Amino acid sequence: MAPLILDGKKLAGEIEQDLSSRVEKIIEKTGYKPVLATIIVGEDPASVTYVRMKGNACRRVGMDPLKVEMPENTTTQELVDKINELNNDYRVCGILLQHPVPSHIDEQKCFNTISREKDVDGVNTDSFGAMTMGLPAFFSATPFSIMSLIKRYGVELDGKEAVVVGRSPILGKPVAMMLLNENATVTICHSHTVDLPKIVKRADVVVAAVGKPKFIQADWIKEGAVLIDAGYNPGNVGDIDLENAAPISSAYTPVPGGVGPVTIAKLMEQTVIAAEKKIL
Ligand code: NAP
Repeated sequence: MAPLILDGKKLAGEIEQDLSSRVEKIIEKTGYKPVLATIIVGEDPASVTYVRMKGNACRRVGMDPLKVEMPENTTTQELVDKINELNNDYRVCGILLQHPVPSHIDEQKCFNTISREKDVDGVNTDSFGAMTMGLPAFFSATPFSIMSLIKRYGVELDGKEAVVVGRSPILGKPVAMMLLNENATVTICHSHTVDLPKIVKRADVVVAAVGKPKFIQADWIKEGAVLIDAGYNPGNVGDIDLENAAPISSAYTPVPGGVGPVTIAKLMEQTVIAAEKKIL
């Protein structure tokens, strides 16, 4: 049987449609459009593209994007001060600091400066802790996208063996916790993992979050496994060799058109929730 395509474009469209009507209600009540502030430090071309895509999504659902551009030589303190300014701006419902920031900046300190109520990208340590403990919190957007695709297409997780390749604070680690909370048996792999192909071969669900094009090979995949490819590399390729691995799988996220579009939609959804909470 042909593998099921976990269609992110379609799911993102469904999410956005629901958000537009919710935003209209917020505007009716408050008289202004909710604002998502996006901070970009430096001019990394991929980040510039992501920020533009997020701004466009914001407009599509009826919200106002606020782009804050800061120079490459911005200090940690200057960025912290800017985030605090946005924390105190009543029109700003959500704050997103585009990752990665230049390496001289303490990124986690800046993430942790974003107030919990405005942390719609789910990057601060408190949000991560609460999510891990199953408490209400904004989720890190890409892991949330992955879980939404899994749920939308009815992929079974209970008792399944999930292998996450990558342990970054915004992707690998939080998605592993989310899978664990759904009763999967989770293994997290990283650059020190010994015999990665053997571990991946055990997986009923593989989540690739490595940042290396076509890194996960078809002959590492168990027949019928579900492939979630969060990778997005130059040339529109993911972290799994999907061309050869997808036919072995039972379901997979395409690249592009899988995890990416839903990530942006989930960011919008959490911003709308933040705006709704303010008027409750
Ligand atoms: P990252 O911070 O660079 O983390 C990469 C992870 O991969 C690290 O944990 C690293 O291990 C691990 N790794 C590197 N080489 C490895 C190897 N040979 N074997 C096993 N593990 C290895 O990357 P990220 O920010 O999590 O992003 C991962 C991918 O997701 C990228 O392709 C990125 O473009 C994509 N992404 C997509 C979205 C989206 O919305 N679609 C959003 C964010 C990121 P160590 O910890 O040991 O170094």
